[in-house]
Amino acid sequence: MFKNAPEHVLEAILKIYTRLTRKSTRTACRKIIRNFITQNQHRIVCKPKTGRILPDPVGKVFNLGEIYNNLNSEYFSGNLDIHITWSHKPNKRLMGTWKDTGSEKNLIRINRLLDAKKVPSYYINYLVYHEMLHEVFKQRVVNGRVQRHPKEFRKLERNFPLYQKACKWQKEHLD
Ligand SMILES: [Zn+2]
Repeated sequence: MFKNAPEHVLEAILKIYTRLTRKSTRTACRKIIRNFITQNQHRIVCKPKTGRILPDPVGKVFNLGEIYNNLNSEYFSGNLDIHITWSHKPNKRLMGTWKDTGSEKNLIRINRLLDAKKVPSYYINYLVYHEMLHEVFKQRVVNGRVQRHPKEFRKLERNFPLYQKACKWQKEHLD
């Protein structure tokens, strides 16, 4: 969008990144940039998605596909139909993700950091189960707030046989 932007817009961009610029000038610059963005929004064209390429669910230690299939038949009567794989990169904060929108729709990702021998398989099983529950409950908006883990979700999660053990391991090793 900014490739062919006029000089005064580019100048405004430089100015807001300079600490020496006065606050009032920065405010004026932001206005110039915002106007430019509004007028040129149409220049951003998203490339159509050509089938996503996912990393292999078979990791060095854990086979997520196998874990998912076993959980699906044992706890969900084989009813779930989603994809699972590892995250591209290890993540320091998120152990697993489930998305119901965008290009990652119906996809569970488990943190690649956990594909390691020191991680017990019951913990991975618990994580995958947790993300699978998201597929069952989806996201709900109650009183204007997004509920990712409604009561029924938490109840089922607690009843998962490996829950306590997994929580304990998580607390001891990932806190
Ligand atoms: Zn969750």
